[in-house]
Amino acid sequence: MKIPRKYGKSVGDIIKIKSDFFEKNDEMLKLSSHQADALLAQPKRTVCKICHGPIGADVGQKELYHSQRMSYYVCPVCGHVNSEYEDNEDFASRVYIADDYLSNYSESDRKNYETRRDTIYIPKAEFLIESLERDGLKKNKLRILDDGAGSGYFVSALRSLGIEQVDGIEISEPQVQFANTMNDDDILTQVDAPDIASIIETADVNVVTFIGVLEHITNLDEILSAVAANKKIRYIYFSVPMFSMSCVFEAAHQNCYNRHAGGTHTHLFTETSLAYMAQSIGFEEYATWKFGSDMMDLYRMICVCLDQNDDPGLRDVFSRKFLPMLDEMQEIIDRHEESSEIHMILKRKP
Ligand SMILES: [Zn+2]
Repeated sequence: MKIPRKYGKSVGDIIKIKSDFFEKNDEMLKLSSHQADALLAQPKRTVCKICHGPIGADVGQKELYHSQRMSYYVCPVCGHVNSEYEDNEDFASRVYIADDYLSNYSESDRKNYETRRDTIYIPKAEFLIESLERDGLKKNKLRILDDGAGSGYFVSALRSLGIEQVDGIEISEPQVQFANTMNDDDILTQVDAPDIASIIETADVNVVTFIGVLEHITNLDEILSAVAANKKIRYIYFSVPMFSMSCVFEAAHQNCYNRHAGGTHTHLFTETSLAYMAQSIGFEEYATWKFGSDMMDLYRMICVCLDQNDDPGLRDVFSRKFLPMLDEMQEIIDRHEESSEIHMILKRKP
């Protein structure tokens, strides 16, 4: 039973959580530029990240677009949007630098952690639980492994909703310590990157999750093959960035921070590349929730441009008039399948 697609999500309090993107445009842009330097230092990409078909100017293809010094090409086979340069191990070692995590945490850190979890991750967890319930899988039957668990927000959200058998794995030791301190139990385990494929392949779980992770994995083929090989895994739940309206807004505003394409995002999914990926590992779309931050990105870029023009008065007028329309405008983009993110559950084919 395939479940109809779900669209839209209220921005609500998320705007407060993401305020760094508004207040620190120049810093964020600089960081993204350093990440672009790291990618530009790599070899040209010769094959598509998803289907491995030949790609790029060297095989006579025209770029789809360019932004922040990077060209993007659409794969003629699967439709995936690939940056001109390869996201290999060297690139990863240059851009994924461990953040500083405090060694002493206060009660307010715990409060902020829970607010972020409840605002951003509980809806993602509820979508998974509700979708699988419709397939006859109750909470007590779920055994979940979260790969690339970061600070553990998603695992923490699932546990707070009553899923007992859920664990996360994460490469960064400071993040694992942070996650385990912010929760009553040790919810994450630190693992080394070369071990992840075998951990997934042998995990005694029926669901594996990758929230904002697949786009960062350099050995994506190996990880997907491990999922395919572990027949206990019946569902994969992931969110990934899509080629979308945000890409266009970013390309048109080169003095605004590019949250979406560029930085650590070196390739973008499309409906057809997702279908190709699912098919190649023996899975199919089971449930999908589309909500993007395209209009939030556009709103932010206009605010940043007005700040750069030293026009705070118009920025206030714009904010007052635009924000009440934001959710509705985004939902139109979502329903037209043009949104910046997708949350998708794949199910193993019988
Ligand atoms: Zn392809």
